[in-house]
Amino acid sequence: MKTISRRAAIQCLLSLLPSPFIIPSPTERVLLAVPKRKRAFKHSDVVFSFVFSPEEYKMWHGTLLYGWCGAPATKDEIPKYLDRQKKSLEVGVPEGASISGFSGNLSWFQEQDPDWKEALWRDSDDHLLTYPWVRPPDPFPPEKGEICTNHPKFVEKKLAETDLAMAIKPYAFHVDDPLGTATVLRIKGCFCKYCMKGFRDYLKKAMSSDQIEAAGIHDIDSFDYGKFLKSRTDRPLAYEFENFQLRSSVEHIRQVMDYVRKKRVATIPVGANAPVVGAHIVFAPYLDYIAAEIGTDATEMKFGGKPLLNYKMGDALGVAIAATGIYKDWVMLTNHDIPDLVRGWIAESYALGGNFIVPHKEWGFVQPPGKEPQSTAYPAKPEIIAPLYQFVRDDPELFDDYQAVTQVGLLYDYRATRLAGAGAQMPQTPEKQPVTLHEICLALANANIPFGMAVAGSEPLDHEMRLEDLAKYEFLIVQNPLMVRGKQRELLDVWTSQGKVIGWTDVESVRSRVRPLVAVEPARDIWALPRVNPDRLSFPLVCHVLNRSFDAKTEKMVVQKNIRVRLNKELFDGRKHDRCTLFMEKVPPASLPVQFKGDWVEVTLPELELWGILRFS
Ligand SMILES: [Zn+2]
Repeated sequence: MKTISRRAAIQCLLSLLPSPFIIPSPTERVLLAVPKRKRAFKHSDVVFSFVFSPEEYKMWHGTLLYGWCGAPATKDEIPKYLDRQKKSLEVGVPEGASISGFSGNLSWFQEQDPDWKEALWRDSDDHLLTYPWVRPPDPFPPEKGEICTNHPKFVEKKLAETDLAMAIKPYAFHVDDPLGTATVLRIKGCFCKYCMKGFRDYLKKAMSSDQIEAAGIHDIDSFDYGKFLKSRTDRPLAYEFENFQLRSSVEHIRQVMDYVRKKRVATIPVGANAPVVGAHIVFAPYLDYIAAEIGTDATEMKFGGKPLLNYKMGDALGVAIAATGIYKDWVMLTNHDIPDLVRGWIAESYALGGNFIVPHKEWGFVQPPGKEPQSTAYPAKPEIIAPLYQFVRDDPELFDDYQAVTQVGLLYDYRATRLAGAGAQMPQTPEKQPVTLHEICLALANANIPFGMAVAGSEPLDHEMRLEDLAKYEFLIVQNPLMVRGKQRELLDVWTSQGKVIGWTDVESVRSRVRPLVAVEPARDIWALPRVNPDRLSFPLVCHVLNRSFDAKTEKMVVQKNIRVRLNKELFDGRKHDRCTLFMEKVPPASLPVQFKGDWVEVTLPELELWGILRFS
């Protein structure tokens, strides 16, 4: 007999019924959130992103090496990489390959192009530029410059590098620094002749002739943006110029990833290191995973909301997040280690469906005055931190194929975040600053309101918010200024007319509209995060319980006692909940008594230092 999956049934319902009549249960809504692409790695995987020895992988219970693995630079180097790959596999760690998103290898371009000096990164005053994070050489000869990734031979060079990377049959393919030339936007680059031609062509496609004229461009065919800016103190067309540079980098990555997918018979995950929020999110639609610095804010000595926003964005975009701390935080911790902060980031990551990259010799860099940049390596203590990874590996079935239960959605309006500066890193058009999204995320999580993101894209983020992106939520939280346009705006307007949109003022504006599904006492600094396997009713509901209370003076977690976690029966969607088992690091699983009070299923955790997982059965 032909059967229909639960996911297909719900999606079928959606397509048949007018939307006001659809009231999916909280866990049915998770079905609508199932990513369209196969996840790049399992939720229980322990991911390395830099190459170490097989002994080091074993020490941390590693299961994958995706990220900065490098690739043969010549055919002669292929055997060396194959040998390394074989040794990693012997300890159960499949290894990827990576290429750089920058041009690199100046001599290659010098051989190919006699005019290579004209293709070096430069600002509108023709001063050469280097990477924003290093001090420019002084003096700055052309030989120390960087070739612009808008050079017409850039993609040809990247595809040749990709050929060598694929020759070792890697288990994943990664592009390091996919922004390429868009990296120097923040230091007002690049204005080389290829960028000037590219921007001209971009404006012709993106703007009407009237708009071009209104922007003060009288002859687009001879338009040179660098010269155009020279006579002015303001920076007109800055937004369009950013769009052009980002679009250009997105197209490069798309071409390289398409090439990888065509070359490899068996699909391998493709990824890059890029932010998952802000202007640079644009690569996500073309990637299976992103290695991201997630805003750990170690200097504030507390757990903030930025990592949460990152993981929720990964869920919304169907991209696996391999997370790490901000490099400055690793430098800080190298000088003064605070293991409980790192443990907190790891627990939070796995509880929210991410994979925190093993913090082994984690990279950072410093540049003392008058000296070259020096790399640093955070010496994490495996005896303190590795047991958390062991905990994940002990019971992978508590993690794999699980998804967060969500009740309300929070709109990520890409255009608004660019223009209003929430999360963007580039020159901004002045606008009223909205509340940052990570602060809203933090408020919702602290109130234990299950939520997810809905992403509305706009040039150059190729992601369109659709009906199913909204239908999985009871309400959508938005804030002004709203800059969603076109079909996405029409959809939003329908949602507004149906009373399903909440304008954010504070957490009470949401709490007063939704029925409570999760409650915790004491209510401070404890997150309860229910997750289900949307395709398998026979798989139990699990609820991660995270202690977020960190004492900056002692630099330790503050142990919490007698925590009552209450889950609305609705969350179980028919799944059993008569019994509850508590899983915690370093201790055997323990049975907890379950109490039923009206619509609530209640358990009490006697003590919580950092992280526990409740499994109901
Ligand atoms: Zn350029």
